[in-house]
Amino acid sequence: MKIALSIAGSDPTGGAGLQADLQVFRAMGVHGAGVVTAITVQDTAKVHQVLPAFPSVVLEQLRVLLRDLTPDAIKIGALASDDVVRNVQLALAPFLSASSAVPIVIDPVLAASDGTVLLERRAWGVLQSLIGSAALVTPNLEEAASLTECDTSTEEGTQAAASVLVSEFGARAALVKGGHRDGPPRDLLAVRDGGSVSLRWLEGERVEGGPFHGTGCALSSAITAQLALGAALEDAVDRGRQFVANALRKTAGSGARARLLSYSCSD
Ligand code: PLP
Repeated sequence: MKIALSIAGSDPTGGAGLQADLQVFRAMGVHGAGVVTAITVQDTAKVHQVLPAFPSVVLEQLRVLLRDLTPDAIKIGALASDDVVRNVQLALAPFLSASSAVPIVIDPVLAASDGTVLLERRAWGVLQSLIGSAALVTPNLEEAASLTECDTSTEEGTQAAASVLVSEFGARAALVKGGHRDGPPRDLLAVRDGGSVSLRWLEGERVEGGPFHGTGCALSSAITAQLALGAALEDAVDRGRQFVANALRKTAGSGARARLLSYSCSD
């Protein structure tokens, strides 16, 4: 079985974070390995507390794991603190060079939907350098705006942000998720193409019945699973989006505020 590694925060609801990532990996037929970066206290209504993991323990988890297993793809989610990001970067050093064959997907989680900070502000700089080694970075509009200082309330600004993530930050591709904008959700995929950046809008269909919990985590982990299985980047993105759209239509259940996605193998 192919192996996907998620480096992410714990969400006890199972709707987001590491628990969701592992469910998605399993549904896609990939073995999921996981390293916890933060413990959260949360329900579907809000994040009550975020406790970053000890940075040295994150480092050791990764070192010991990577001495033993070689992942086929890696997903990085919420990293909580500056020291945690630095230690992830240290432990992943062999995978961060341009010659590494292991694709890394970074979901640059800055905050939860309720506004709770999931990555401290002073860590944005080191996150930016990590993004330089990513096969794909998957910010939502707000995260793209925060990281690039582009105004993503317009299409032009969103295109500028996606281009910055690729041409200035150095990611091979960026998927800026437009799901939180009114109207049919449109994502923008920017891919490095020789010396330039090619841009493609991906149209989606709004699924009623939200709010949903953990859609961003599910999308990035579904794309990671596809990359672990050997899919080309654009195919992995298309299949990941389709997988999440199907999961939204079924939903596994409802909490006090948000609904949980339901993942199944047939997606
Ligand atoms: N908790 C963790 C650990 C997460 O990684 C995320 C999102 O990435 C969330 C909570 C937030 O999920 P939502 O945006 O659905 O509130």
